[in-house]
Amino acid sequence: EPASALLAVHDVSVRFGNIVALDGISFEAPAGYVTGLIGPNGAGKTTLFNCLSRLYAWQTGDIEFNGRSLLPLPPHRIAGLGIGRTFQNLALFDSMTVLENVKIGGHCTSTSGFLSNALRLPYVRREELDAGRKASELIGFLELDAVAHLPAGQLPFGTRKRVELARALMGDPQLLLLDEPAAGLNHEEVDALGRIILSIRTDLGVSILLVEHHMGLVMGVSDKVVALNFGRKLAEGTPKEVQQHPDVISAYLGGR
Ligand code: ATP
Repeated sequence: EPASALLAVHDVSVRFGNIVALDGISFEAPAGYVTGLIGPNGAGKTTLFNCLSRLYAWQTGDIEFNGRSLLPLPPHRIAGLGIGRTFQNLALFDSMTVLENVKIGGHCTSTSGFLSNALRLPYVRREELDAGRKASELIGFLELDAVAHLPAGQLPFGTRKRVELARALMGDPQLLLLDEPAAGLNHEEVDALGRIILSIRTDLGVSILLVEHHMGLVMGVSDKVVALNFGRKLAEGTPKEVQQHPDVISAYLGGR
C-alpha cells in the first residue's frame, strides 16, 4: 500500500531570466517518511525549498501540502500550515539562552523575517507558560538540558545546530524542511544528527524533507531519495536504487 503524499510537487518549473532552475519537477514526500533530496551544486535543491516556503514563485505546475495548493498562500502562512524549516546558515540569537532561542520558534508564523516579527509580538502570560514547557521538552529531546541556560553564542557549532532543530520543532511542523543540516559537522556530530533525524520521524511523527550533500547521512536515514541535476529529476526510489542509478552516478562524476 503506497504511503499517502503529505507533499506533492507536480511539474514545477522556475526560471530566473535565462536560467532554468527547476524544469518540470514532480515527486511526492509521503507522510511518515524521511525524503532525501540530493543533487550536485546548482541542481535546484535550494530553489525548490524556497518554493515550498513560498519565497519564490513557480511558473508552471503546483505544489500541494495535504492536498492544498501552496500557490495562493503568502510566505507567512506556510509555517502555520505545518511546514517548518531550518536554514543553511544558522540564525540564532547569540546573546539569548538556548531556552529563549527555542521558545521563539513557538512564535514563528513566517519563514521570512519571522525572528524580528516574533520579538515584536505582545507578551501573553498563558501562552508564555505553555511555550516554556514545550521548549523544555524539546530541549530534553535534543539532549540540550545541560546548556539550556547558556547563551547560544557560547556553544560549539554542532550544539547550535541542535538548538536550531529544537526551535524549528516548536512550530509543530507536520513536515520539516532541513537544508544541509550536516554542513560543518564532524563525523560524530553527523552520526548523532542521523539518530536525531530518525527520532524526529519515529518518536515525534514529523515527516522530513532533507536536502543534503553528505551522502552517508542522506542514504542512511532516508526512506526515499529524489535526485536532481540541472533542474531535472534524475532518479527517485530507495536509497539503494538511487545510488545505483547510472544517471546519478554520472552526474556526480561530472557527466550530464
Ligand atoms: P547547492 O547545492 O550549491 O546549494 P542547489 O541545488 O541548491 O545548489 P540552487 O541554489 O537551487 O541549486 O540553484 C539552481 C540554479 O538556479 C543555479 O543555476 C542558480 O545559479 C540559479 N538560481 C538560484 N536562485 C537564483 C536567483 N535568485 N536568481 C538567479 N538565479 C538563481
